[in-house]
Amino acid sequence: MRIDLHSHTTCSDGTFTPSALVQEAARREVGVLAVTDHDTVAALAEAQAEGKRVGVRVIWGVELSARDSAGEVHILSYFRAEPPEAFRALLERQRLQRVERAGAMLQALEKVGITITLAELRAAGASDHSIGRPHVARVLLSRGYVTTFSEAFRKFLGPGCPGYVPQQVPDPAEAVALVRGAGGVAGLAHPGHLKDPATLDRAAEAGLQALEVYHPDHKGDRVAFYEAQALTRGLISLGGSDFHGAGGSRAAKLGDHPTPPGSLVRLEAAWG
Ligand SMILES: [Zn+2]
Ligand SMILES: [Zn+2]
Repeated sequence: MRIDLHSHTTCSDGTFTPSALVQEAARREVGVLAVTDHDTVAALAEAQAEGKRVGVRVIWGVELSARDSAGEVHILSYFRAEPPEAFRALLERQRLQRVERAGAMLQALEKVGITITLAELRAAGASDHSIGRPHVARVLLSRGYVTTFSEAFRKFLGPGCPGYVPQQVPDPAEAVALVRGAGGVAGLAHPGHLKDPATLDRAAEAGLQALEVYHPDHKGDRVAFYEAQALTRGLISLGGSDFHGAGGSRAAKLGDHPTPPGSLVRLEAAWG
């Protein structure tokens, strides 16, 4: 039985519905699955119900977007049960901001002569739960403005580019405090993506409890490096596939890069 504490559904940018994701977990002998969509817990009711049906324990999770001066930071958070109303209201406010931001991005691109409609964003996978730069990037790619997904970010959607609209998100320390204030356990996702290692120091000072050590983007000596970081800082070592479904940029399958069983015990203890 494997423990996968990082996965996405169609409620954010994954391609599997919540039920299909849990069925895939059962098929891949993942006995404990945290569903951690970006900034939403919309998948959890359905995922929990399917988990009961097929015998997979589903953990309430969310991957919170945060940002500091060095760039985007993702805070994985885990809850014993449905997070409190105040926390869910905060996620809802962030969702509404993302919808507004997507509209602003389209207006900004219009100024450089690129007209993209909301219908095109929807066709590229955007929904009421999830709308953002990846969907705009997919449209730019399909319309031939760029030849790769990453080029869309370099030329149009990244900071300083014509279609860039800054996002109003908490800084990592605030995100950690929000999660802990709502009774959750806060972990730093894929530290290998950090542009500035000091981000981890600041998150740790703010009360970070866990670190995602095992992740498909951690290659070579990075796993041992982050294992040591978790150990010296007293953080729970997490792992997960960051599975987004078929057609994603990563080859990892659900259940790859699992969380060690001892870490799940520590996570449960941290819930108190
Ligand atoms: Zn992430
Ligand atoms: Zn993720």
